[in-house]
Amino acid sequence: MSSHESFYLPRHIRKVLVANRGEIAVRIIRAAQELGMVAVAVYSDADRDSLAVQMADESIHIGPSHATKSYLNTSAILDAARQCGAQAIHPGYGFLSENASFAQAVTDAGLIFVGPDAETIRTMGDKAAARTSAQRAGVPTVPGSEGELTSIDNAIDQARRIGYPLLIKAVAGGGGRGIRLAENDNDLRAQFSVAQAEAQAAFGDGRLYLERLIRQARHIEVQILGDGKEVIHLYERECSLQRRRQKIFEEAPSPALTPALREALCASAVVLAKSVGYRGAGTLEYLYDESRCGAGEDGEFFFIEMNTRIQVEHPITEAVTGVDLVREMLRIADGEPLRLEQKDITLRGAAIECRLNAEDPDRQFMPSPGKVSALRWPAGPGIRIDSMLYPGYTVSPYYDSLLAKLVVWDESRAAALARMRRALREIHLEGVKSTVPLHLALLEDPNICGGRYNTNYLETWMEARKESQS
Ligand code: ADP
Ligand code: ADP
Ligand code: MG
Repeated sequence: MSSHESFYLPRHIRKVLVANRGEIAVRIIRAAQELGMVAVAVYSDADRDSLAVQMADESIHIGPSHATKSYLNTSAILDAARQCGAQAIHPGYGFLSENASFAQAVTDAGLIFVGPDAETIRTMGDKAAARTSAQRAGVPTVPGSEGELTSIDNAIDQARRIGYPLLIKAVAGGGGRGIRLAENDNDLRAQFSVAQAEAQAAFGDGRLYLERLIRQARHIEVQILGDGKEVIHLYERECSLQRRRQKIFEEAPSPALTPALREALCASAVVLAKSVGYRGAGTLEYLYDESRCGAGEDGEFFFIEMNTRIQVEHPITEAVTGVDLVREMLRIADGEPLRLEQKDITLRGAAIECRLNAEDPDRQFMPSPGKVSALRWPAGPGIRIDSMLYPGYTVSPYYDSLLAKLVVWDESRAAALARMRRALREIHLEGVKSTVPLHLALLEDPNICGGRYNTNYLETWMEARKESQS
């Protein structure tokens, strides 16, 4: 008997396999260990010396560095789970996290998939099917195609009905990839088959759909938790600062919402998630159209997609609500009903996340792998670092470039901005280039500091900066 009393006794999950790498593997290991679960890391050749391997209670090699041979290899991961006797698999984000066949294979092997069931992933992870679910639940979607695009002629017909300019999007897309702009029939004709082929290669699914381009959009998303019966929301995250449709700076709450609009948006997310009996943590992404905003009028919001997994930027929600989302995911997967009711969730203060990538912002964001020769993180009140870095660690070129997420919380947005500036300046990182200087520059911008930005803002800002520097 240990001398301390545990606050949680696992019902089914005594050991959990973490089928991921990098900062999110570290994040999940921490949550599992706090719950008294044994955490098992898996690793590829490139990740032998990873922090996740060092922190986990056990670790298992699953294959070569190339993700298709390791972190995307279902049978290698299932073998590892059998070998160590884990009862559950947490998929993290990216890799197999939104792969319905993987979730099914985990269940078929008699294991618990930490996430929704395969059927839910199939309906909500398919972006065209998710639009249909939203429409059925009465949640507004961006005007777009109905059903599948069956041919180029069918695409042109639908496009004329929707109206240009529009976006060609992959049904299985993710990570901001594979989205193309078409201003007219000719663009659509020219891009249709290329987009199909690319989607097939990137996501193993060539199906496409169309959505009208919203020219002045904010990306605002709602975090939810469900147990298959009840669903609650944990308010929203503002993720409009994007480069190539990938988020790089996020904040909670969104500076764009009135309290009434916030309630309406979050309520719609709960209705939609409830309509599919959602279980686990999930995010409903929306575009908030500001073009008709002003003079006392609110803008309009449209559902775009659901991510049926934990998201990169989840820590800002944890900061403003005090809820540990990864812990809740594990407890729900362990068979516990939702412990929190909507009235338990309150918003407090403001949080910001800066994604620190191993990229050189002065050289077109060229990846910058290499050995971390010196490292000192910021600390003090309101600071959180989610990272897999340690001094001497070598950042490998095989995986995405996220090095760390710097998250700050403070009582107000203005105070959080000041705290973020202070924290970024405290970072001492040598050996790899990072996006720290970019974030410091962004925090000097009056529009960003004033909360006045949309999804076009960052790229326009970078263009202007390049011109002023040349
Ligand atoms: P988040 O909002 O959590 O940042 P992203 O869409 O940026 O979500 O994806 C998070 C990570 O998962 C990124 O590393 C991204 O490249 C990866 N990812 C997301 N969806 C897919 C997908 N369908 N196929 C491959 N990688 C994906
Ligand atoms: P992914 O699955 O790759 O994350 P999303 O559908 O979430 O793709 O879109 C990624 C980003 O692309 C959004 O955050 C937004 O900036 C932009 N975007 C997507 N759809 C539209 C649209 N209809 N109009 C304007 N921008 C869009
Ligand atoms: Mg998205």
